[in-house]
Amino acid sequence: MKEFDLIKRFFTEQVVKRKDVVLGIGDDCALIHVSGLNNIAVTTDTLIAGVHFPHDTSPRSIGHKSIAVSLSDLAAMGADPTWLSLALTLPQTDEKWLTEFCAGVFELCEYYNVQLIGGDTTQGPLSITVTAQGLTPEGKHITRSGAKAGDWLYVTGEIGDAALALKHIKGMVTIEDVFKEQILSKLDYPKPRVLAGQALREYASSAIDLSDGLISDLGHICKASGVGANIVMEALPISSAMKDTLGSEQAAQLALSGGDDYELLFTVSDDKKVGMETALANSGIAITCIGQLNASEKITTTLNSKPVPITASGFEHFSSGSINEVE
Ligand code: ADP
Ligand code: MG
Repeated sequence: MKEFDLIKRFFTEQVVKRKDVVLGIGDDCALIHVSGLNNIAVTTDTLIAGVHFPHDTSPRSIGHKSIAVSLSDLAAMGADPTWLSLALTLPQTDEKWLTEFCAGVFELCEYYNVQLIGGDTTQGPLSITVTAQGLTPEGKHITRSGAKAGDWLYVTGEIGDAALALKHIKGMVTIEDVFKEQILSKLDYPKPRVLAGQALREYASSAIDLSDGLISDLGHICKASGVGANIVMEALPISSAMKDTLGSEQAAQLALSGGDDYELLFTVSDDKKVGMETALANSGIAITCIGQLNASEKITTTLNSKPVPITASGFEHFSSGSINEVE
């Protein structure tokens, strides 16, 4: 049984259905209404050494990434990040390692004014679990389920670099020295698109953050919204470093399947398109229109208006090849 089937079968159906749970299992965050004008968005993510990052990753990067992936889920809901809890399992106490790890954690906390409010520390194989909370103005959050046929499909930043970095680390490709730092930092120091998420809550009909790969994460939007999508391959925002390393065709395929980008994938209706583009341009956030939604309930890709096959799929735990993905 794969990750998402397991969640659906064992955890989604529950007897308890509280009225204050605006949104439960199934999106980037849960939403809780307490009182007043805001909902609380909540998300939990675990990073395990050898699965989510190679064992020799720098402690600063591990600290950064642990926080960034959770802030990225908050961004996908359009939430303002506020509080964090950190459950840390360490093989041993190593002061130098912890100092560096904390530098990575608190850099992001300070930038986004997020406070660490608790957690747990245990001994065992290295793993980090972060629960992040944020606030969304009531009724203004973005879900995976609001997309409509005809909406335009957008992505922030550039996609695929993190997957390329992983291939480099595994010895499957060689990145030229001039590009190495730029590409590796995409994997080690992803930038959660918090400001983009906040700006988008006025405009986007749906959003998700790209953690498992474009095709896989777009699949979540399509399934939740009951729509299909066509991706225009020549529109995909791919770094010149990636094109140089892989060639355009392979680069585009990796951009479809590669995980760990932590960019936002979002949809916007035709009448909000110009307003959204203006708002994001004024905030200095790079976005690219990569396709359009339709009623087919399928995901297709075209190159120069001709259909092309999708050869790659995204990452899912418990599917073949998912264990020790980054030994
Ligand atoms: P993301 O990639 O955005 O972090 P996931 O794909 O990990 O989201 O999870 C999908 C949904 O399933 C989320 O709503 C998450 O909270 C929920 N979920 C995952 N594992 C569990 C679990 N063990 N118990 C309850 N809910 C879970
Ligand atoms: Mg997510």
